[in-house]
Amino acid sequence: MAATPVGPIRAGPVRDDDADMHTDQRTIVVVEDDPSIADLIDLYLRRAGWRVLLASDGAHGLDLVRRHTPDLVVLDVGLPGDLDGFDVCRTIRSTSSVPVLMLTARDGEIDRVLGLELGADDYVTKPFSPRELVARVKAILRRTTAAPAVAEVVVLGDLEVDSARREARVAGAAVALASREFDLLAYLAAHPGLALTRRQLLDGVWGAGWVGDERTVDVHVRQLRKKLGDAFVLTTVWGVGYRLDGPG
Ligand code: CA
Repeated sequence: MAATPVGPIRAGPVRDDDADMHTDQRTIVVVEDDPSIADLIDLYLRRAGWRVLLASDGAHGLDLVRRHTPDLVVLDVGLPGDLDGFDVCRTIRSTSSVPVLMLTARDGEIDRVLGLELGADDYVTKPFSPRELVARVKAILRRTTAAPAVAEVVVLGDLEVDSARREARVAGAAVALASREFDLLAYLAAHPGLALTRRQLLDGVWGAGWVGDERTVDVHVRQLRKKLGDAFVLTTVWGVGYRLDGPG
């Protein structure tokens, strides 16, 4: 008997037991090459009520994202083959604003910053508790799928922040932002002229329970400055945080 081939075969089609699930169920693509970690994540996410599609390398992960348009992607940084987690994140971001939660190594601060710069929404450091992962996923889904309290467009000079469409426009042209970048922008735009501390921004955008480095805010601010250019008039208030200035 030939041995069963091993390889990236876990990225299979939708499983049979998903067939009777209702259609508004959230779908999560998990890209993780360590089978024991993947199984654990699979178990906990399914138990939380989500549909899970597993891929064990970057190429299969991207394929699943393309074919299934998931609500969230859990993405390991260290993947075998040609594409690591950063490559996958970058590729996803070029076509989609699906939230990405990265799994990073314990002492990988550079990994975390790079992941956020590439448009990841959040990260969980390995080793992590599955419950923590579920909590993070819940928080991201709550944030990204909630209808905005007020569907309105805030206009700040050349910059328009459209909460209903979750879209930023500069001089009328849409600018592709990661979902967390948009949330930060929308929060700043809702408080023009106010100096906000990093802690206030973390509480307002990431949620009061979010645990992590305050420099996460700086990383996202840097991305917003890069993407929005001169239309984004954000003042760094030394010793405090940031203030978004109105037009004029
Ligand atoms: Ca790995």
